[in-house]
Amino acid sequence: MEWDSELFRVTRNLVHSTAARLDMDPNAAHRLLQPDRALIVSVPVRRDDGTVETYTGYRVQHNDTRGPFKGGLRFHPDVDLGEVTALATLMTFKCAVVGVPLGGAKGGIACDPSQFSRAELQRLTRRFTTEIINFIGPDVDIPAPDMGTNPQVMAWIMDTYSQMKGHACNGVVTGKPIELGGSQGRLQATGRGLVYCVVAAAKHLKIDLSQCTASIQGYGNVGHWAGRELERNGVKILALSDVTGAVYNADGLDLKETRKYVLKHGGIKGYPKAEAIDPNDVLTLETDIVVPAAIGGVIDAEVAKNLKCRILAEGANGPVTTEGNEVLLKRQDEIFVIPDILANAGGVTVSYFEWVQGTQNFFWGAKEVNDKLRAIMQKAFKDILQTHVNENMDMRTASMAVGMRKVTDTMKLRGLFP
Ligand code: GLU
Repeated sequence: MEWDSELFRVTRNLVHSTAARLDMDPNAAHRLLQPDRALIVSVPVRRDDGTVETYTGYRVQHNDTRGPFKGGLRFHPDVDLGEVTALATLMTFKCAVVGVPLGGAKGGIACDPSQFSRAELQRLTRRFTTEIINFIGPDVDIPAPDMGTNPQVMAWIMDTYSQMKGHACNGVVTGKPIELGGSQGRLQATGRGLVYCVVAAAKHLKIDLSQCTASIQGYGNVGHWAGRELERNGVKILALSDVTGAVYNADGLDLKETRKYVLKHGGIKGYPKAEAIDPNDVLTLETDIVVPAAIGGVIDAEVAKNLKCRILAEGANGPVTTEGNEVLLKRQDEIFVIPDILANAGGVTVSYFEWVQGTQNFFWGAKEVNDKLRAIMQKAFKDILQTHVNENMDMRTASMAVGMRKVTDTMKLRGLFP
């Protein structure tokens, strides 16, 4: 298949095993593995020194049965058609799990954004936007931030799209700066949503969070806000890692301080109020909660065997390989998994709120956003937990089952065209 890749293999195995468990029509399962549309574009960009380099960009629209396509844009060297397709597929089920009326998409450019100046990044973003312009739009496909992109990148996309259309089109992207029609709480949403799940899981497991410790792999937007919300619940964050290194403090790190340090120094390496540790050890430390919030595929069989946590809350998309998942299935009594399409669905949930607010030109306060986010995450967690308990499925299969059932039910209602 065109989109074969490691993450697509993991996603395909998951769709197949869940379909078999649900006794689903194999043709329906097969359909769910074929994206509706996959675009590959060339993105030439003039560097500041006058030379021109050409990058490859993608937008994969997986399924819009439940509503317009929705999903992030990733600027990262590992981006390729297979990875983007797998991520688009996960978005379809993620949106269904939280019950927002949106489909699944993902996009990106294979590049290292840290190597670009601000002006270069702007040119790259604007050219990419014009290459995909006929395939996105407020009612069609709405991109958002993901790894390597941020509210500023969304602002450039919004501006480019609006310039081409001749009028301001706020609804073409979410995750915008608040001044430009972004939503309160969008930046924090993925991390917060993850912790609302952790709180629900702790209640289910009868664990007192104020006695718990955590480690976080990947100290970007998701990792930071997950950590801040864990701190608010009394959890001590013992370890953090990012691409520059990893730090550990047995008494707990102060995340406001680590954030300040990272913004000043470009990474966590060298943070003075902690000891440096091997970044490879962050996932397997002895902490009650482990949050992978970096790239996919980091928990293989070996890492899964060595995990020592009670709760694994997946902030990243696809952090567990097929082989890693097999180990986790055997360790279900020891490790409670909050799978990615549930744990990190807070981001797209507040993206949905942003889209709704933009459509109505009526904006909500931070409390309203957070209360609504909490209610949606709690409901999604409850639905999946019930499926896990009542139908005797592991949490990952249960989350896929909830998502896949909703999508296939809608597919049946709409029928096959023509
Ligand atoms: N990129 C995020 C995700 O993987 C958010 C997507 C969105 O807000 O549309 O869920």
